[in-house]
Amino acid sequence: MILDRFERPLRNLRVSVTDRCNLRCSYCMPEQDYVWLPKDDILHFEEIERLVTLFTSLGVDKVRITGGEPLLRRNLPELIGRLAAISRIRDLALTTNGVLLRQQAAALREAGLHRLTISLDTLHADRFQALTRADELSRVLEGIDTATSLFPGFKIDTVVIRGVNDDELVDLVEYGRAHGAEVRFIEYMDVGGATHWSMDRVVSSREILERLAAHYGPVTAVPETSSAPATRYRLPDGLVFGIIASTTQPFCSDCDRSRLTADGMWYLCLYATAGLDLRKALREGGSLEAIGAQLRATWRARTDRGAEHRLALRDRSPLIALDSLRRDPHLEMHTRGG
Ligand code: SAM
Repeated sequence: MILDRFERPLRNLRVSVTDRCNLRCSYCMPEQDYVWLPKDDILHFEEIERLVTLFTSLGVDKVRITGGEPLLRRNLPELIGRLAAISRIRDLALTTNGVLLRQQAAALREAGLHRLTISLDTLHADRFQALTRADELSRVLEGIDTATSLFPGFKIDTVVIRGVNDDELVDLVEYGRAHGAEVRFIEYMDVGGATHWSMDRVVSSREILERLAAHYGPVTAVPETSSAPATRYRLPDGLVFGIIASTTQPFCSDCDRSRLTADGMWYLCLYATAGLDLRKALREGGSLEAIGAQLRATWRARTDRGAEHRLALRDRSPLIALDSLRRDPHLEMHTRGG
């Protein structure tokens, strides 16, 4: 196991397979237009497979496919099949907005995908359209219906934003219950791309708990030993849900996650402004041993605690200005993969 400066292991890799998305969520992609990664730079499946295999030889055993919207990547089940064959991967998961899920869920399951997380912020069609600039709620709900039998126990991730969907907490918990899914509420984060972020729009974990307790009665924490970002809670009737309190209670001290962008940049923190170019190393014919040594040294030197540094700031405003995002799209959440 390779440990960083704070004894955090290299275990959890998020692999973005595209920076493109079919939604324009106001907390992630609020602008009219974007600078995309050059097509030729996007890693081929074979390159992703080689890099992921290398990461697993260094201790990674949890891999999550993300984006952009990963289901936009052509022939994605083929990549899932390649990764599912890597025996060191204990947990192979995917995060999707669900728009294209109905058509692809069976193929993903068949290819060997273990787990699925679906992002769903509202159950109201008009809100969905306002939030995402796409009239796709019904397709997402159909996708979720399909996932219910193919990926039992799947997760639903909801970014809670004050004045947008914070009146839907109970409805979403009940929707999750009806579909056998665990709902996880995510605090609105000031990551790159969230150019409309402000602290007063964040609904804190504490407030979410208070609101749910006011409806259901006392909520209790579920003891957890894993490094998973969500803290899990139980309602009096036994139903479990999660909260990812990345903004008000960061979990940097346990963070074993790193991120590979679709063009092969490796980032050690969601908030990091610089990464390591693995595509260049790979395409210039660098040996896997040499790249592995670079990964090992980079992780050992890791001191990132991005969310904690943000929390310590007095005046918190969007992380990165729009002109910097345009100069380097790697700073965007949709490029880095959430
Ligand atoms: N397109 C896929 C999806 O919608 O799940 C995968 C990529 S998306 C960037 C991954 C996750 O990041 C989603 O659950 C999204 O809600 C979350 N996300 C994006 N911007 C965020 C922000 N500013 N604060 C909190 N979560 C955010």
